[in-house]
Amino acid sequence: MPIKYYSTNRHLKSVDGVTPFTGSVSFREALLTGQAPDEGLFMPDAIPQLPPGLISRLKGKPYSEAARLAAGLFLADEFAPDILDFAVTDSYNFPVLLEKVKENAFVMRLDQGPTASFKDFAARLMARLMSNCRPPGERLNVLVATSGDTGSAVGYAFHRVRGIDVTILYPAAEVSGMQKKQLDTIGDNVRALCVAGKFDDCQNLVKQAFSDLELRHFNLTSANSINFGRILPQIIYYIYAYSQLAKEGEEIIFSVPSGNFGDALGCEYARRMGLPVKKLVMPTNENDEFPDFLQKGRYQKVSPSRACISNAMNVGHPSNLARFFDLYGGTVDRAGVVHRYPDIAEMRRRIFSVSVTDNETRKTIKNLYKNYGVVFEQHGAVGWAGLEAYWRENEDGTLAVCLETAHPAKFPDEIKKLLGFVPSLPPSMRGIDSRTGEALPLANNYEGFKKYLQGNLQVKE
Ligand SMILES: *Cc1c(COP(=O)(O)O)cnc(C)c1O
Repeated sequence: MPIKYYSTNRHLKSVDGVTPFTGSVSFREALLTGQAPDEGLFMPDAIPQLPPGLISRLKGKPYSEAARLAAGLFLADEFAPDILDFAVTDSYNFPVLLEKVKENAFVMRLDQGPTASFKDFAARLMARLMSNCRPPGERLNVLVATSGDTGSAVGYAFHRVRGIDVTILYPAAEVSGMQKKQLDTIGDNVRALCVAGKFDDCQNLVKQAFSDLELRHFNLTSANSINFGRILPQIIYYIYAYSQLAKEGEEIIFSVPSGNFGDALGCEYARRMGLPVKKLVMPTNENDEFPDFLQKGRYQKVSPSRACISNAMNVGHPSNLARFFDLYGGTVDRAGVVHRYPDIAEMRRRIFSVSVTDNETRKTIKNLYKNYGVVFEQHGAVGWAGLEAYWRENEDGTLAVCLETAHPAKFPDEIKKLLGFVPSLPPSMRGIDSRTGEALPLANNYEGFKKYLQGNLQVKE
């Protein structure tokens, strides 16, 4: 039986304006529509189990092999083997580094992709799977609104992917110089529009386009982070790290610096597939709604979210919390209202979470360098600080792996201040200063945006 995907909102009978979607869809449909018709998040209705012997088979093998096998467990019913093969080898053409920090504790660096952030892993595989799900002979047009990093991860992920064009909208005054350079210079099938407005304006323009019937024939689609196609690839690196570092059957702890919880959700699924994850450590920055919830048993989102130096994690109500709640038997909606609480005792058994302040984050970066000679940036450092908090409460020699989610060279000012030097860019990002390309300026006005789309998007491949 192929796996089907249901909505986290299927039980929401009492919410105004929501008609619960009680059906289910295929992976392809979930991939192309992004979210359920009731605005819930898609969830697989069955979780495949890791076949015996898989882990030892992966030891010493390249990352793409782990990706082929792990993704295949979910997708083999919907994608032919050669298509999956091509998708994973084309996606994962960069190294995944596992580096020892101290006895039995490692860092997994997910920062060697084209935008030097772990988001490359999910976006690249999703792009190649989407290319395969196009209506025959037609193009897909991806629209993305971004405040910076997500847009470039998505843009680079789709760069030169067959049959898909990408239009990125970003707010002129809200992106950094380096982000602008990244967004403007992708080229080919990826076009950046620099909007005279804020991030919210960009989001509104994109939203209006999605609901505009006159643009329907362009096969508009989003590549947003709540797409299950972005979650699935994030299961793979847990399985990979385990297969490289552990003896089959040995327990492991993962620490995952968390914002919208998509990355940590990958680990949750890997455990449910049978990976012996003893504890999932999910540290947050000062946006402490989740650790607070685990402690008190009541959920209260943080609004507005707090601005911390680990800015990709400044989230006051994580979008994937709905999926975590669902997996543990609860329901929470997009607004952060809890309709049914999950099994909190079970959650506490499986998950450890703690809020890490900016000061602790900075101290952690300094100490890691001083004590072990390893360089972390602020997101990964939240992860490491969370692992240390876990160790303080649990005397535990279990194998531990902390995820580093971005490359330290992406934050030259912060790292220079703390460590006195600027790390060099990973090979994938060198030469960015010499790239050329201009964004198209766009007024913050829907009619102008629509005209642009009608004049520039294509339907046929
Ligand atoms: C997006 C991001 C995170 C947070 O990941 P979530 O899946 O949203 O929890 C952490 N670090 C970096 C560098 C990111 O870009």
